[in-house]
Amino acid sequence: QEESMLEDVERKYKEMLKKSSRTFLRFEDFPLSWRTLEGLKENDYVKPTEIQRDTIAYSLTGSDVVGAAKTGSGKTLALVIPVLEALWRAKWSPEYGLGALVISPTRELALQTFSTINAVGKHHGFSCGLVIGGSEVAFERNRISGINIIVCTPGRLLQHMDENEQMNCDSLQVLVLDEADRMLDMGFAKQLNSIINNLPATRQTLLFSATQTRNVKDLCRVCTNDPVFVSVHENA
Ligand code: ADP
Ligand code: MG
Repeated sequence: QEESMLEDVERKYKEMLKKSSRTFLRFEDFPLSWRTLEGLKENDYVKPTEIQRDTIAYSLTGSDVVGAAKTGSGKTLALVIPVLEALWRAKWSPEYGLGALVISPTRELALQTFSTINAVGKHHGFSCGLVIGGSEVAFERNRISGINIIVCTPGRLLQHMDENEQMNCDSLQVLVLDEADRMLDMGFAKQLNSIINNLPATRQTLLFSATQTRNVKDLCRVCTNDPVFVSVHENA
């Protein structure tokens, strides 16, 4: 079942792109792995929200995506699902090292995203780690080389990039910048640029924010490659 899905995935994605996003009424209408579908179902996620519906088809095919939608619109799952599917397609396993990096503005938001990855990603075998201030660097240092998905705050991640020889981003497949407008408001532009300079150029980048400010657009220019822009408005 799994192998045939993997063999078919290119064809299924091509069919998916021909359809209007409005036809994706339920998560099971997307060509997702049974592992992700089961994780969604177990957590009572049945119908995609608008930002999920309008970005997931693009994100699944590996395009860079810039998504804007207000707080509470469901941007977390819009990033979690494509991250899980990208690593699943690549048949990622713990010994492959870091496959996806999710950067959040605050410890609280990082923790929420981490929980969602663990809940929805339960049937995948990926290891997920939190790299945020307030936990012990030494503990993170020893474990970091075995982590497939890192959810982090910018300052703490940079600290590891600068000081920790175990931190290796060479195989990174997906970079996610979550709540990008907020990270810029908090003064993280310089840190984000340093992080991006440490990452392989060939990767997928997903960027989510509540607003599309000038600063967000500047950040998109340095970290994305020919992205699809999706914006969901309040009155929709
Ligand atoms: P945002 O990041 O856009 O502020 P979140 O991703 O934190 O929003 O989601 C807000 C709330 O909506 C969360 O409680 C989340 O569990 C819920 N939610 C997200 N997507 C769905 C969905 N497809 N179906 C039901 N609830 C959802
Ligand atoms: Mg969010």
